[in-house]
Amino acid sequence: MEIFDLLYSAYGPQGWWPGDSPLEVIVGAILTQNTAWQNVARAIANLKREGLLDATALLEAEPETVKGLIAPAGFFNVKYDRLMNVLKYLVGHDMDLERFRHLPVADLRDEFLEVKGVGPETADSILLYGFERPVFVVDAYTRRLFTRLGYGWMEKAPYSEVQEFFMNELPSDSDLYNEFHALVVVHCKDTCKKRPLCSGCCLSSSCPARP
Ligand code: SF4
Repeated sequence: MEIFDLLYSAYGPQGWWPGDSPLEVIVGAILTQNTAWQNVARAIANLKREGLLDATALLEAEPETVKGLIAPAGFFNVKYDRLMNVLKYLVGHDMDLERFRHLPVADLRDEFLEVKGVGPETADSILLYGFERPVFVVDAYTRRLFTRLGYGWMEKAPYSEVQEFFMNELPSDSDLYNEFHALVVVHCKDTCKKRPLCSGCCLSSSCPARP
């Protein structure tokens, strides 16, 4: 919580996830794999412009058309397949958002993980940002930052171990997990980069990696 408080004081609320609906969050979570968010935003804007930010319409659209629209996000063949797999799962459950919001978290997570192409980080992003479920998202930024902050074991530990650490240390609160992950991402993009900019870093007083 001390690290969260320092980050929050430095950067303020992040207002994540950018998206007007759970479906938009889900599409974004698939498209953002291995690419910067501005590329995803262009792809989503393309889908919106063509009236395809709708699960059924997207499933029924010509594959080549959809691939062209999501191309700015890169790896469009793989991402198209993953998107279709998730959409089939959602439509297979009648796009029942209430069901997704109320199913036990572990059950919902297992269902998403059974969808081909959905790994733990994507599943947890969908659960947290699409359905406000209290699961902590672990990504490469989380591992980098906390490794530098003295938790070296996180660098190579399995996803589940890192996630368990945060969920044991923090209250089970989707708003807190939402903000914490967003703050880690913004801090690692702005300051704790691959080559960190330690002078003026808001965490420098408690960071053993600072020069
Ligand atoms: S002091 Fe440097 S290494 Fe530590 S968190 Fe800040 S930027 Fe990263």
